[in-house]
Amino acid sequence: MSNIKEAFVFNLKYSDMPQEPKSERTPEYRNISVSDVIVRNVQTPLKIVGLEEAPITGIVLKNIQMEGAKGKSIIKDCKDIVLDNVVVNGEKFQISATDKAMSFQSSKSLGTVLDDISKRFGVRLKYDVDTTGLVLPYADFRIRPYSLEESLTNVLAPFDFKFVKQNDKLYKIKAYEYARRTTADGEKLLGYLSSLYNDDKTFEKRAAVLRKEVREKLGIDNILSECVPNPTIKLSKERKYNGYKVQNFALETLKGKYVCGSIYSPLKGGKHPLIICPNGHFNKGRYREDQQQRMGTLARMGAICVDYDLVGWGESTDKHATPMSHVMQVVNGVKILDYMLSSRKDIDVKRIGVNGGSGGGTQSVLLTTIDNRYAASAPVVSLSSYFDGGCPCESGMPIQQAGGGTCNAELAATFAPRPMLIVSDGGDWTKDVPGLEYPYLQNVYGFYNQRSRVENVHLPKEGHDFGINKRNAVYDFFSRVFNLDIKMVNEKLVTIESEELLKRR
Ligand SMILES: [Zn+2]
Repeated sequence: MSNIKEAFVFNLKYSDMPQEPKSERTPEYRNISVSDVIVRNVQTPLKIVGLEEAPITGIVLKNIQMEGAKGKSIIKDCKDIVLDNVVVNGEKFQISATDKAMSFQSSKSLGTVLDDISKRFGVRLKYDVDTTGLVLPYADFRIRPYSLEESLTNVLAPFDFKFVKQNDKLYKIKAYEYARRTTADGEKLLGYLSSLYNDDKTFEKRAAVLRKEVREKLGIDNILSECVPNPTIKLSKERKYNGYKVQNFALETLKGKYVCGSIYSPLKGGKHPLIICPNGHFNKGRYREDQQQRMGTLARMGAICVDYDLVGWGESTDKHATPMSHVMQVVNGVKILDYMLSSRKDIDVKRIGVNGGSGGGTQSVLLTTIDNRYAASAPVVSLSSYFDGGCPCESGMPIQQAGGGTCNAELAATFAPRPMLIVSDGGDWTKDVPGLEYPYLQNVYGFYNQRSRVENVHLPKEGHDFGINKRNAVYDFFSRVFNLDIKMVNEKLVTIESEELLKRR
């Protein structure tokens, strides 16, 4: 800017009106930031004038250079004005002592405060959030000289930010995650939940409340009642492989809406167990190699398996990351099971299982919570008392508020005393399962004298995937609980099909 009358004007005093009580006609300016401006030849460099009843607050001016300023700045009835490297005629501009006393500066820009904390405690901060223009009231009052983490909590809380410790020297600043808490939170919640029941009767009461309220919070009954009563099913030709066959399907749910997937069946005749296999967010969804290996192997072992697209993935054209997909994925699981049981004669209704990894594990727990037809469940790399699943398709609807507050570990416990396998690893939110969620589940299964029916395979050196050791744990579990042929496990004999083939009707 050059040759102007006033460079920066924040003026609430439009006319010489007398002071009046604050009302809806009182103007308000706050939390405005301006940076990186050069001004040449100006009459009044800065004019910040608020009202006595409504001071201007939270103005941040950063890296402002003004040359050739002729007149004085006017600062009145304002507070929490942050001047960071504002230079007028070669001198650092400061609000005069009188103006300052009139408007005590308790505020600082959040970026400056975090820089100070970083220096004071000798740590590096990495940002997943944008702190530009954010002003922290009572900034220095929030610092605790003895505690980095308490200081960070105090400083970040007003913005709904949080920190995640990466290591002793590095902290990440992130937006608040409604679905993710800490291990300590998980311990406290499970401690509290465990105090609500002490035998099978008191637990059954609690489980009944959870089952009912999870349905209500999901709103699933309304959607199910809108689903078409005699849905259209489109089936592809069967493709026969070594010991199993694959058939694609598109099943109508709501009018004109389809869930698409593939059914893997054993070649031999007779009644078979059925395993519903919801997917998570692993790259390529149900088309990926390890998914096909697992489906084909379980089918070779003697189980019918159904896998299907996440809402918005594969052949689904709906939006994925919305609370509605939380509901629709459950609807899809229910409607697929309905269809399989009503249309096929080769299913043993006493042996219906569910198995999925990551978001598919979250979905497995949810399906068993609202649908009592399941006899065995195997959620993989998902179960936690302090992480609900970060995607709206896992936690978009407020199901964790059922029963006054619950978590996926308690929802899983409602499956007691039926057989359940929890597969966990050392590299994600399932890292605490052996010492936290698993003992909690054993305790609940103990109410039914069935502690051994809940199992945990923990792989401390592994991370968040559905790798071979996790698949082997699943094969072993279902071979025992559904009497499948473990000798048929040989993933090399499973044919990996192209995505296109898995979509063709
Ligand atoms: Zn999702």
